[in-house]
Formats: sequence, C-alpha cells, structure tokens
Amino acid sequence: MYELMMKDVRSAFATGKTRTYEWRISQLKAIMRCLQENSDKINEVLFKDLHKHSLESVVMEANMCVSEAIDCINNLKDWMKPEKVSKPALYMMDTAYIQSEPYGVALIIGAWNYPIQLTLLPLIGAIAAGNCVVLKPSEVSAASAQFLQDYLPKYVDNDCIKVVNGAVPETTALLKEKFDFIMYTGNSFVARIVMEAASKHLTPVLLELGGKSPAYVDKGTDMEVVARRLCWGKFANAGQTCVAPDYVMCQKDMQDELIKNLKATIEAFYTADPKSSDSFGRIVNEKHFQRVQKLKKGAEVAVGGGDVEEEKYIAPTVLRDVKLTDPVMQDEIFGPLLPIMPVQDHAEAIKIINDRDKPLSLYVFSNNKSLIQEFRLGTSSGAFLVNDTVVHGGLNTLPFGGVGNSGMGRYHGKHSFDSFSHQKAVLEKSLALDSVNQLRYPPYSDTKLGW
Ligand code: NAD
Repeated sequence: MYELMMKDVRSAFATGKTRTYEWRISQLKAIMRCLQENSDKINEVLFKDLHKHSLESVVMEANMCVSEAIDCINNLKDWMKPEKVSKPALYMMDTAYIQSEPYGVALIIGAWNYPIQLTLLPLIGAIAAGNCVVLKPSEVSAASAQFLQDYLPKYVDNDCIKVVNGAVPETTALLKEKFDFIMYTGNSFVARIVMEAASKHLTPVLLELGGKSPAYVDKGTDMEVVARRLCWGKFANAGQTCVAPDYVMCQKDMQDELIKNLKATIEAFYTADPKSSDSFGRIVNEKHFQRVQKLKKGAEVAVGGGDVEEEKYIAPTVLRDVKLTDPVMQDEIFGPLLPIMPVQDHAEAIKIINDRDKPLSLYVFSNNKSLIQEFRLGTSSGAFLVNDTVVHGGLNTLPFGGVGNSGMGRYHGKHSFDSFSHQKAVLEKSLALDSVNQLRYPPYSDTKLGW
C-alpha cells in the first residue's frame, strides 16, 4: 500500500540532503512558520477535537513546538559536531570520537490527546537529527490530523517529510514497511504491536506510553497550593494527559482537608458549574466517555456529578476512600477523575508504587528531605517531581520518557536529537609507525606476551 511512497522517501534520503546542516535548519524554520502563521487554525482544530481553550492550545501545544524548534536551531551546529572521547595511552596517536548520524527514514505515530505537540515535537527531533520522516497523526483527533495533512506539506520538503492519515488499517500497512527508526506515542497494548512489527526488520523503537502516575501528599504541606497543582495537572485537557497525576495517596486523617481544598480549587478554576467554563475540556469521543464512566462504578464521589453524555462532558471529579481493588485503580484513567486512596504512611505508598507497573511520572508533595529521598531512590518511574505535577515536560534539558510499561527511550531537546541519531564510533589512525603494532600481529609467541 505504501511501497511507492517508501521508495520515494528512501531515494530522497539517499540524495544526502537531509544530512546537511542547511536542510535541517530550513525544515525547522518551516515548521515554526507553519505553527506561527496558522495559530488561529490550530486553536480551532484543537477546540473541535478536545474543546481546548486557546491558552492551553498555545502554551501546551504550539508554543512548546516553537520553543523546541528554536532550541534545535540554536544548538544544532554543536550537536552535529563530532564528540571527542577520552583515550588510554595505547590510542594516544589516534583520533577517537562519536559522530551522530541520521538513522534514515523514521516513522512517527502520534497520539490524539496533544495532537499537535505529540506529532510535531518528535518531527522536530527527527529532522534535527537529519532523518526523512513519515508522520502518522492519530485518527482519533480528526480535525488536528486533517490540519497536519493539509498545512504541513505547504511548508516542509515534501520529498522527505510525508504525512499519512488513516486509522488502524493504514497504521498496520505502514508497519509492514521497513523503517530505520519508529517512534510511537500511545498505549502499551499498541506499543507491543509496533515493537513486534519493528522486530521483523530489527528497527529500533522509541515508545512513549502511559500508565498510572501516582501522587503522594505528605503531612504538613500547604494544602491550598498542593490542591492547585494537583487540579491543574489532573484536569487540564479534561485529564487526558499522559503525565496527569492518576491517583493520590495520603494518610487517612488528611483526606477531608485535601478534599476540601480540591473542591475549592475546582470551583476557583472552573466555577461551580464546570460545564459552562471554557477553561475545561471534553472527552475526545464516545468510546472514551463510556470507558471513563465505567471506572467510576462503585466509587464514592466527593466532588463532581452532572456528566452529560451528548456533550462528552465529565465533571472534574474527586473520589474518596478508594481501594486498590476498585475499578478506578485497575487501569490508567485518562479522564477527569481524581481518586484519593488513603494509606497508613509513606512506606505503604512506596510499596504500592513498587508493586505496580513503573509509572511515567511520580509526584511527591512534601517538605521532608529524607522522605523525598526515600521515594526518589526507592522507586522507579520515567520522571520524579517534587511539589508539582506535569511541568517537567516543559523543561527540555530533562529527558522525557517512561520506563518499563510506561515506555522506552527519551526525547525533548538534545535528548530527541540523540534518540533519532545513531552514535557512530569513529577511530582515525595513521598508517605510519606500524612497528608499534608488531605485538598484535601473528605469528604469536610467548615472547610477545613477555613470558
Ligand atoms: P491511540 O489508540 O490513538 O494510538 C495512537 C496511534 O496508534 C494512532 O495513530 C493509531 O492509529 C495507532 N493504532 C491504534 N491501534 C492500532 C493497532 N491495533 N495497530 C496499529 N496501530 C494502531 O492512542 P491511545 O492509546 O488512545 O492514547 C492514549 C495513551 O497514550 C495513554 O495511555 C497515554 O498515557 C499515552 N500517551 C503517552 C504519552 C507520552 O508521551 N508518554 C503522550 C500521550 C499519550
């Protein structure tokens, strides 16, 4: 189905133009122009897909991509330079370095929850590293996917960057082709399909997945601030954020106080009727609306109610006295439900985290340095944040990625450049002074070993 396109894009890579500094810069600038000249259209499609407020669309989607492109443009010369490595005396006369080179043709499969950011940020990294790219936006966010297909080709080099729209059959057909690198953002079920397809060609993969990112709230923290940071991370994009705090653990006697503050924050953010607030998003489609509803079954609602199916509206919801066995604790929520699960103490919270799949992020709210250290060194997660949620994704000097079930590999900033590049080992020697090599040439003898 895509043989012809692959042939074209392979010959475009073979011309060598994507390896040049000039081509990479021109494409990064082209993406920036596409974002800047069409900002209204981007806000419009994100509103259509997810009811995103333009502030969220600008800050968490378009501007993030523009900043990433600027960062690449500013640093690309340095990143492309050979990186010298240290050498022992035996290699004293030689030059040894790492040369980053593009893999070739990369496939990027995007997700729907941040449909602009999660396709263009990887694209920026892949281009900075000098690859040709086949970009497959998620069909779930249809308006954004259409935008990318209609607008991106007006700006970028169409021989080297292809946008393919479609759903499972199209993705399945794409995955039959041989790529040199595949990046997939989405769930761990599809990630297995991607990895299996990649294994047929021994293609390296970068998998950005999800899971249940826990938060722990310690005693003695400023509950007003904690509630604001939890609510912002959880309810932005109606909870459809891969690094949203999935559930909150705290000691039982803190639960009422925490809920009181969460309720006040929800009202301050979205009014007493969040449905009427244009700052609050919607669930992407009916299937996901029903999925999130099922997770609520049997739970005690402390804040929330008034969901409207026809509008795919689920109120910002807080669930209290949640237990590990409840439906809401079985799968990633990916919607605006915030379960509070009381625990004995932080040691129990650490045990719960370690008994489950490794999360994409772990959030600890505390002023106690030794408790923070216990979490940091005693657990494993893609990222670890103290006293905030989600914002690590905006600091591109930090690698962004999961571990175990939450993903493999990392990207953002220089980390993207490294991930989309093969680090080639280079050793340059002179043909002179070969006498020093006599020891390693046959015929071997004990005398040569110095015995
Ligand atoms: P999704 O189902 O839209 O999948 C994403 C892509 O996979 C789409 O392009 C789709 O066409 C393709 N796809 C779906 N089913 C397929 C199949 N059977 N075979 C081949 N391709 C297929 O995405 P989703 O799972 O609904 O996204 C939500 C998940 O993504 C959550 O778990 C979330 O945490 C995770 N996520 C992770 C990150 C991150 O950066 N780590 C970011 C966003 C979302």
